[in-house]
Amino acid sequence: MIELRDKGQLTKAIERAKASSLLVQQSGLFRLYYVTNRSNGARYSVNFRVTDGKRFGKCSCRAGEAGMVCKHLAAAAGLHVAIAEAKRAVH
Ligand SMILES: [Zn+2]
Repeated sequence: MIELRDKGQLTKAIERAKASSLLVQQSGLFRLYYVTNRSNGARYSVNFRVTDGKRFGKCSCRAGEAGMVCKHLAAAAGLHVAIAEAKRAVH
């Protein structure tokens, strides 16, 4: 798990995500997403966790396993933040 401290940490990964053709899908479980790279068909799972008010994320790709913020994580984080905010607005 990688701690997600600020948006700046994700900026470069977001740029890479935009340059790629990534499809982010909800898994049906809150905080778990599937990210598919449309250009090569590779599919990874990304999950998020909150512990002691700190946010963590993890991707199943090689960069993610190495503890790096990868483009899949950044792409899924965008959707996750939107969903988490929508849930808060409801409750
Ligand atoms: Zn990844």
